[in-house]
Parts: sequence; structure tokens; C-alpha cells
Amino acid sequence: MHDSHIGRNLDQGIATLRRDDPELFELLEQEHLRQTETLSLVASSGGTDASVMAVVGSSIVNVTAEGYPGKRYHAGCRYVDQAEELAVARAKKVFGARYVNVQPHCASFANHTVMQALLKPGDTILGMALDQGGHLTHGSPVNLSGKLFDVHSYGLDAKGLIDYGQLRELALEHRPRMIVCGTTSYTRVVDFDRIRAVADEVGAYVLADVTHIAGLVAAGLHPSPIDAAHFTTTCTFKQLYGPRGGLIMMGRDADRTGDDSPRTLSQRIQSAVFPLMQGSPEVHTIAAKARAMGRLLQPEFKELARRIRDDADALAASMSRRGYEVIGGGTDNHIVLFRVPPHLDGLSAERALESCHILVNKNKIPGDTRGATVASGVRLGSNTVALRRMGPEQMERCADLIDTVLTGAHALPGGGVEVPGEVRERVVASVRDLCRDFPLPYATATENL
Ligand SMILES: *Cc1c(COP(=O)(O)O)cnc(C)c1O
Repeated sequence: MHDSHIGRNLDQGIATLRRDDPELFELLEQEHLRQTETLSLVASSGGTDASVMAVVGSSIVNVTAEGYPGKRYHAGCRYVDQAEELAVARAKKVFGARYVNVQPHCASFANHTVMQALLKPGDTILGMALDQGGHLTHGSPVNLSGKLFDVHSYGLDAKGLIDYGQLRELALEHRPRMIVCGTTSYTRVVDFDRIRAVADEVGAYVLADVTHIAGLVAAGLHPSPIDAAHFTTTCTFKQLYGPRGGLIMMGRDADRTGDDSPRTLSQRIQSAVFPLMQGSPEVHTIAAKARAMGRLLQPEFKELARRIRDDADALAASMSRRGYEVIGGGTDNHIVLFRVPPHLDGLSAERALESCHILVNKNKIPGDTRGATVASGVRLGSNTVALRRMGPEQMERCADLIDTVLTGAHALPGGGVEVPGEVRERVVASVRDLCRDFPLPYATATENL
């Protein structure tokens, strides 16, 4: 079947794995089937293309290439240089950025790197609290960002919207060097310009971590932070449907200098990624990022992003119609957050749904009296169902299945949850039908095997 060197290599690799390590091979097979047969409504899930996976699995992985294209510490980098240049050029085009670094191993590293490039230990930062929708790397006490810096946190107001007034007050009071924004469970538009205005008032840098909404930003369905923030970070595997990895991007501030160094901000990021924070880059992942960025430039991606939004709107409306309290009354992105019915909590709802092959995650909601490990809400996301080409009609069906499970589930003494066997069987069968009719693009239909 394969008339290419890398194709034969991939085939041979799979054949060897199957023969020599059946234990691991079987695990991978089962994982593939699990993805195929479950309905993922996890807001941080994406799903990468088979061509991206092929790049990750190709022999380019064997190249050690410390440094940047044209300035490597090793010989033999001719093609990895070109792959990295391609990834950078495409990412710039996708996001309208002036500067992109494609080497960060993940979004967490990208955030740490921006902080290390600009800040000194003990400096003050302002980030969104983890339990309000921020990320660990935005200053949580259990994360390096919380240990190294003097962190002050802003959050949501009573309506569940980012409390920009509180953000500004905290900024005026504590004079942070950096304001971190971007969220993991926020369903409304983030006003990057407003945050930048506060930052300019107090002389702070803005780091916008758009990991969750990067695809909508790329498609023009959410305002872009590229010029509003000094630095924009994202992972490449959630809404960008690429390999696991991160990006750091800059817009109009790329060639500016700060008040504490003659070097431009982008030069400082460049040397912070390597050699300050990382060694040799994952060249196979960088090549896969180039492939993923290429896909984002195709008109089909605009359609996918449109479907992400339409599906999320339909999910929110369908849940509301069934009497669920949708936090914020709806959504501007891919996330739908709702309060679970009183006979359950977030954790038991998540478990009940997983037992029926519907994957979601528990999430705190505004004013939640439960902790984050139990929570009173459930977070849904439309990235993966949109990738499966499910539309609003199927979202109605998903909402119906979720409602059936949650209505039928009852909490057990001691914290467990039970879904009556008859309900579970019915829902699992419906999920199987839905997944078969709307297969993941990278999953070969099982009947063809
Ligand atoms: C998922 C997420 C991250 C972490 O991404 P990794 O690539 O797994 O490190 C960072 N920030 C936000 C807002 C996220 O949602």
C-alpha cells in the first residue's frame, strides 16, 4: 500500500509492535476503540488528524536539533530547519502574528517560558484564580508560577462574568508586572482590549493564554488577543486539532523593548524557550504543528469552527429546554456549563455519564458551595462532536441522552452513583449508533478491519 519511505516505516513499526509487544499493542488498539465508541463532550478534547499522527510517528523524530533553524548545534538539520520554518510561517498566517515560537513542549511550558523571559522571582503577577476558571500556570499555589511569584487573583462576578472592575482594582493596588488572562471554563467573550487598557495603566505585560479558544480565534469567531496582549500562548492539541505541544505568539509588541533590557520582547522569548527553559526541540512535533497549521488554513477549518459554535449553542439551548440551568444563559464559545440536578453533584453526574459512554467533566459553577473535586456543575464542550460532523440536530440527541442518564441516576450512600441497567443499555446503544453514524475522521470504520 505504501510507496513512500516513511509509509513503509510506519507499517513496519506497527507490524513489529504487534509481534513483539502484544501487551502494549492491545492497549493501543483498545484506546483507539474507546475513542471511536465514546461520545466525548470534554471541553478540552480535540482529536488530531491521521496525517498529523503520521508526522509524529515519522523518522524525523530521530533528529537532535538544539537551537533554531540556521543556528543549530548539530549537523544534519537541513530538513528539520525547513519544517520548523514552515510551522512558524503557517502559524503566523493562521493567527496574524508577527512572531511565533513553535518549540514549547506544551502550553504550560509556554506560560512558564513567558514568565521566565520577563519576570524575576518575587515579582507580582495578577492571574485568574484556578477555581474561577484560570489555569494552574496562572499563579496557582500548587504550581511553580504560584511559588515563584507574588500572586494576586481575580475572578468572576455574581453573574459569572470576568470581574474587570476587580481586576483593575487589584492591578492599581498591587502594580503587577504581568497580568495573565485566558480561562478553562468561561463561556463568554474575553475582553482582551479591556485587560490591556488596565495593564497599560499600571505598566504591566499581558499574557493571554487562549488554549481553550485558539480555534475560534484562528477562525475569527472570537476576538484575537494577538495585538491586544503582549504575549499569546496556546496548546496545539485542543481546539487546534494538532499534536500535543505549545506555541508562543506576539503581535504589535514583538519588536518593542521593555523598560529593563535593550533586547526586544520577541528576542527575549526566543532565548527563553532555548536555552533558558528547553533543550532540543521535539522536531517531529514541530513538523506535526506545521501540518496542523496547514489544515487550519484550509476553508474546511472555518466550517469546523462554525460547527463548534453552532453545536455549543444548540447544546445550551437543548439543555435549557430540558429545565437545566445553563450558567450565563448560553455560550459564546465551545463550552456549555450547567448546574446538575439536586439529587446529584458534579462528580456523580460525571461518573453516571461515563458509565454510559458519555464523557464530560465536573466543574465548579459561580457561588458553588462544593469543592472542585465534587462541584455542582458539569462542563460540556463541542470540539470533538463538531469534528465528528455532528450538527445541532445531534446536539438535541446528546442533550436528551445526558438528561436521560442524569434523571435516571441515583446517588448511593457513600458517594457512588448508579444508573439503572435498562437506562444504561439504552443510552450506550444510542451512543454507539451516534458514534457509528458520525465517525471520528481518523478512525477507520470497524467493519472495514
Ligand atoms: C489545557 C490548558 C493548559 C495546559 O496545556 P498543556 O499543553 O497540557 O500544558 C494551559 N492553559 C489553559 C488555559 C488550558 O486550558
